Amino acid sequence: MAKFRSNKSNFLRVKCTDCGNQQIVFDHAASNVKCIICGKTLVRSQGGKSQIRAQIIEVLD
Ligand SMILES: [Zn+2]
Repeated sequence: MAKFRSNKSNFLRVKCTDCGNQQIVFDHAASNVKCIICGKTLVRSQGGKSQIRAQIIEVLD
């Protein structure tokens, strides 16, 4: 698996570990991002690079 470049912003396709919904998120999100289906927090904003709390399916450049 390719190593993610941590200094670059990316959009990620993630899969909610609770309901299986897939959605696109930004890895430097300004606020928390929740699953649109079940409301689980998928991305936790922490100023810089966000903490991803879902399964990353794909990195979109
Ligand atoms: Zn969900």
